[in-house]
Amino acid sequence: MAMAERQTRFLADLIAIRSYTGQERAAVERTLAELGAIGCDEVWMDSAGNALGRIGHGRRVILYDAHLDTNEVADESEWPHPPLQPTVENGAMWGLGASDCKGGVAAIVYGAAIIKVLKLTGDFTLLVMGATLEEDAEGFALRSLVERDGVRPDVVLLAEATDLTLRRGQRGRCEVRVRTTGQAAHASQPHLGESALLKMLPVISALDAMNATLPEHPIFGKGTQVVSLIEGPHTPNSVPAWCEVALDRRMVPGETLDSVLSGIRAVVEPLGAKSYVPDQPVLTHTGLRLDGPSYYPGWLLDEAHPLITAGRATCEALWDKPPAVDVWRFSTDGTYSAGVAGIPTLGFGPEEEQYVHTAQDQVNLEKLPRAAAFYALFPCVVGEYL
Ligand SMILES: [Zn+2]
Repeated sequence: MAMAERQTRFLADLIAIRSYTGQERAAVERTLAELGAIGCDEVWMDSAGNALGRIGHGRRVILYDAHLDTNEVADESEWPHPPLQPTVENGAMWGLGASDCKGGVAAIVYGAAIIKVLKLTGDFTLLVMGATLEEDAEGFALRSLVERDGVRPDVVLLAEATDLTLRRGQRGRCEVRVRTTGQAAHASQPHLGESALLKMLPVISALDAMNATLPEHPIFGKGTQVVSLIEGPHTPNSVPAWCEVALDRRMVPGETLDSVLSGIRAVVEPLGAKSYVPDQPVLTHTGLRLDGPSYYPGWLLDEAHPLITAGRATCEALWDKPPAVDVWRFSTDGTYSAGVAGIPTLGFGPEEEQYVHTAQDQVNLEKLPRAAAFYALFPCVVGEYL
């Protein structure tokens, strides 16, 4: 069977496997089987349950990262095809996760397949990773690979949606919880209590007004924040004794956990509210707990960085024209690799951002082998520049 057909079949198999965050085992096993079938020198599952394949044992360690978990379907009736039923239409493969990020997984695995067939060796070790946990806790599975399992790449390439162009950074994000407390009383005698909900009203307005004052960045524009969730006691016949809101904050490079929290505290504490960054609960499909702060720093690789030059050169060698170089609006595993660990990280993938997390989820089947060609050539090209 031709390689592009095998790639398409592998993608269809991945789409048909439900793999919500923390439930990726079957998709990981399918990926390990494919990594073995294309001839990886070593195939294994790490402690966080990522699927890994290795080619070569050269000096420079290059990691290709595409995640296997998908976001959850909100309303299946909105989907033109059932989300878990891979369907080819108008030259695209439709299905849940096609554009985020199973198309990327199929592309990096088949990039490795081309390397094996053509024996494109060099002084590199290529690691191909079908990653877990990205949708709920981006970077956590990659952190585990680096810090728990001791695999430290020199370069990370993320196969998230870029439509065959390059990405060199992303905004960061964090969740902040803001809480007011009052005094419970029976709702028939509200004057005996103090409503935490009413105390929260000016806090919500003040948090929204902060948008005018958030730091601005020449590439990413302004940071933003939005009150995205409100909670209280589930008793409709009491004066609420507590109220808590979740704040989704998008950060520009340079902001830190401390700078974000101290800015928010300066606004909400005079109004009697407390704030904290909650832990994101994370349980891997291998049973490992990786809970950690819900804080994901942004990052930006210098435009003149040799990794970007290598990405450009790879595109030009394949397609005779330089690719656009942009940044992502959304967050990726790069929050750990570049944002925390300082590993040069580049984005390149076949998927298109407009389909990510939508009922139109799809990936163009002509772009998959083109992306694979990029991944096959890149390790050799990068050696010329780094
Ligand atoms: Zn993704």
